[in-house]
Amino acid sequence: MAFNLILFGPPAAGKGTQAKRLVEGRAYVQLSTGDMLRAARKSGSDLGKRVAGIMDEGGLVSDEIVIALIEEQLALHNNAAGFIFDGFPRTVAQAEALDKMLESKGERVDSVIRLVVEDAAILARIGKRFEDEGRKDDNPEVFGKRLTAYNRDTAPLLPYYTAQGKLNEVDGMVSIDAVSAQIDRVLEAHNSGRA
Ligand code: AMP
Repeated sequence: MAFNLILFGPPAAGKGTQAKRLVEGRAYVQLSTGDMLRAARKSGSDLGKRVAGIMDEGGLVSDEIVIALIEEQLALHNNAAGFIFDGFPRTVAQAEALDKMLESKGERVDSVIRLVVEDAAILARIGKRFEDEGRKDDNPEVFGKRLTAYNRDTAPLLPYYTAQGKLNEVDGMVSIDAVSAQIDRVLEAHNSGRA
C-alpha cells in the first residue's frame, strides 16, 4: 500500500522544492499538476493549448482536467511506495475526487503537511523566481490572481483536512533544510502512529 502525502500551501510556499527532496532516495513519486500542465503546453498538445490561457491569467484549470491527470499518473505508477501530491488538490471537489480514487485502491490520504508562509515572504520569493525562471504566471499582476485563487478555492481545504484529523503545520519561513527537518519529524511521528 502506498503512502499518500499532500504538500499544501500557497503558490511559492516551497512545495515543489520539498517534494523533490522527499522523493530523493525514496521510491516515492512527485505528482505536480502544475508541472504536468506545463509539460502539456511545452509538447504543444491539445490539452496544453486548452489550459494555456487560464494558466497565464493565474486562474485554476478545471477540476475535470486535473483530476484526469492525477488518475492517469496513479495508474501509471502502480508500484510506487508513495505519492507526494504537490499543487493538487486545489479545490474541495478535487480533494473529494482524490479520496474516491485512493479509496478504490484501498488507500487514503495519509497525511497533509501545510507549509505556513506569510504573504509578504511569498511576494518576495516570487519576485526572485520571476527573475530567475521567467515564468509568465510569476509576474506580480498574475501572481496576485494566483494568490486570490488560493485564498478563495484552496484555503477551504484546510477545514476539510482538519476535520479528517490529517492536517500538520510546519513553519515554511525558515531555511529549506529547516523546513525539510520539520517535515521529516511529521513523517516520523506519522510512522510511529502519533500523527
Ligand atoms: P503551480 O505550478 O502548481 O503553481 O501551477 C501553475 C498553474 O497551473 C496554476 O496557477 C493553475 O493555473 C494550474 N494548476 C496547477 N495545478 C492545478 C490544480 N490542482 N487545479 C487547477 N489548476 C491547477
